[in-house]
Amino acid sequence: MRIVLLGAPGSGKGTQTDAIIQRYGVVTVATGDLLRAEVAADTALGQRAKPFMEAGELVPFDIVLGMIENGLQALARTHPKGFMMDGFPRDLAQAEALDKLLAKINQPLDVVLFFEVRYEEIVKRLLGRGRADDNEETIHNRLRVYEEKTAPLIDYYTRKGLLRTIKGTGSIEEIGERIRAVLDEIA
Ligand code: ADP
Repeated sequence: MRIVLLGAPGSGKGTQTDAIIQRYGVVTVATGDLLRAEVAADTALGQRAKPFMEAGELVPFDIVLGMIENGLQALARTHPKGFMMDGFPRDLAQAEALDKLLAKINQPLDVVLFFEVRYEEIVKRLLGRGRADDNEETIHNRLRVYEEKTAPLIDYYTRKGLLRTIKGTGSIEEIGERIRAVLDEIA
């Protein structure tokens, strides 16, 4: 199964990934985690990405696409049950690039799970989380970038018939149950 998780920062995508991995045997590809690892290891890529991440801006297209391209080809071989993307794609250019990549290896997406959570709730969650880029100014910028660049993907995937909306409020178990209902139907 090939899944994309879509939703604002703080909408709870990361919280649900472990349960999805365990139940469906997919592997997760989280560009934010991959980028933070590059920054922590102080690689050339990490050094380029860092200022964008600290400002809450999108890291340039070529950096992210390079990471995804390398990863996906290998994943198709090592993880036949599929993958789940968290934090990618984040704008239309990335979505179109992903479609092309997946078409080339004959592995189209099965579903896009859109985590729907209200703006005020998101700000509250992010302020409580306390990651390095979770200060008030960066949060508002990340949310602005989300609205401008990522939210249009809701339409993009709706038109492709791939979007399923998950109500992102309630307990972790309740949200997990909503996700299972959708994915069991597809699996
Ligand atoms: P969040 O949980 O807040 O959505 P992520 O861990 O997904 O955060 O991403 C953190 C930061 O990493 C983003 O603000 C952005 O700077 C960078 N980033 C992650 N994924 C991408 C991507 N697909 N394209 C560009 N930048 C990205």
